[in-house]
Amino acid sequence: MQWMDTHCHLCLLKPEQGETAQVVARAHTAGVQHLLDVATGRDNWDCVLKNAHQFADIYAAIGIHPTSEMQETEDDWQQLAQLLNDDKVIAVGECGLDFFHAPEAECGHQYPRFERQILLAQQYNKPLIIHTRQSSAQTLHVLQSVGAGQVTGIMHCFVEDKTVAQQALDIGFYLSFSGIATFKNAAQIHQVIQWAPLDRILIETDSPYLAPVPHRGKLNEPAYVANVAETVAQLKGVSLEALSKQLTRNAQQLFKRF
Ligand SMILES: [Zn+2]
Ligand SMILES: [Zn+2]
Repeated sequence: MQWMDTHCHLCLLKPEQGETAQVVARAHTAGVQHLLDVATGRDNWDCVLKNAHQFADIYAAIGIHPTSEMQETEDDWQQLAQLLNDDKVIAVGECGLDFFHAPEAECGHQYPRFERQILLAQQYNKPLIIHTRQSSAQTLHVLQSVGAGQVTGIMHCFVEDKTVAQQALDIGFYLSFSGIATFKNAAQIHQVIQWAPLDRILIETDSPYLAPVPHRGKLNEPAYVANVAETVAQLKGVSLEALSKQLTRNAQQLFKRF
């Protein structure tokens, strides 16, 4: 069986997790073939790109996280656009809105940053990796008004309710579930997983954060996406084989490769 981790941060892994090559080898052993290594800002663009070029099965998403401390200049935007020409860069992100760490009133700068990345995704015809935290209505609104049905992508680490899920599906986005889905008390996410169309979901680790059960509380890594797969298969009432095939098709559909 093969899995894809559609959201990991190999450049943010801790030294005790070993070299990138070791982490990738453990992922392969666990059946995790493809990894999407996601950048959060200029300070890891080079690292993410290097990984994508070094390992055949690693792909890159390049973008600016809503809470990044980076104060982007016109040069940075040009560099970002340039990087999107790279064949191994298959998505723009992660980007979006995040009102968890600071109230919305202090997050005005997140809007132009997000909007510009939507326009880049449109221009370069690549999907978006969307981060939304305590901002789902605003995030969807921006996607609709700026993207106007011209962009698609992933709502990563999806933890919202069915209403938000439906709205995201309606504008062509996929829902990606993380290790949170394996937590016993995540009733709302379990409901959304049971309800969501099988052909519109994906799985991820968001490693090194959010390790799934039975690794909860430890450092997370792409190999553990197999644990997320087990939970999703159980909730959907499908075999691991069937889920593996379907999720591969979903990723092929979205990224136009694999
Ligand atoms: Zn995120
Ligand atoms: Zn992330």
